[in-house]
Amino acid sequence: MASVSARIDRAVERSARKKPVTLVAVSKTHPAAAIREAYEAGQRQFGESRVHEFEQKRPLLAAPPLPGAVWRMIGHLQSNKARRAAQLFDVVETLDSRRLAVRLDAAAAEYGRRLGVFIEVKLGSEANAGGAFSPPAATEAAKTGCSEAELPGLAMQVSALPNIELLGLMTVPPFTADPEGARPYFRRLREWGERFGTPELSMGMSRDFEVAIEEGATVVRVGAAIFGERMP
Ligand SMILES: *Cc1c(COP(=O)(O)O)cnc(C)c1O
Repeated sequence: MASVSARIDRAVERSARKKPVTLVAVSKTHPAAAIREAYEAGQRQFGESRVHEFEQKRPLLAAPPLPGAVWRMIGHLQSNKARRAAQLFDVVETLDSRRLAVRLDAAAAEYGRRLGVFIEVKLGSEANAGGAFSPPAATEAAKTGCSEAELPGLAMQVSALPNIELLGLMTVPPFTADPEGARPYFRRLREWGERFGTPELSMGMSRDFEVAIEEGATVVRVGAAIFGERMP
């Protein structure tokens, strides 16, 4: 984790705006004990990608509690799991539909809390993604997130809901052999963020977080580089 933090600091120095970056430790597939260990080393933000998996770990993290820990949902969320997610997590980074937004809002109201959300965007999915944006050929297309065409409408709908707060935008670019291939996607997300005035951009994982920070990421989601490779 210390080495990831040092790499983040160097990437911030190279970036144009030198904004502070939040490191989210992605603990999916790793046991609660690994989360506790990272917490004791000073880590506070944790990302999980499955409601059910985190539901199993949550009781083990409650006694003794980890004050100040922030739990973030970073995996695809089906709207029938919105209620559980609103109870378990502080932030949902993968809001991608109006239906999910409405359910999260209702659940947040029910639990008497305000939930932070990011809209997940599937970039470059439209044939007419815009002349300025011609991403390199990807070996595998990103599968989740709202389309760029849907994004402005969804952002307006989310902003109108009282119990969820739109914090920013999130993306997982399609896989390219070279991490540099992700750069146009990161740049594109930053442009959308500027258009909406949302302060946060969650982009970049173990393989490409430095590129993401150079392009303006304020949140990076790093798993393998902190906890080691996951079992298949
Ligand atoms: C697993 C995952 C990460 C972390 O991936 P690493 O390659 O282990 O850093 C980040 N974001 C999302 C959405 C993920 O599912």
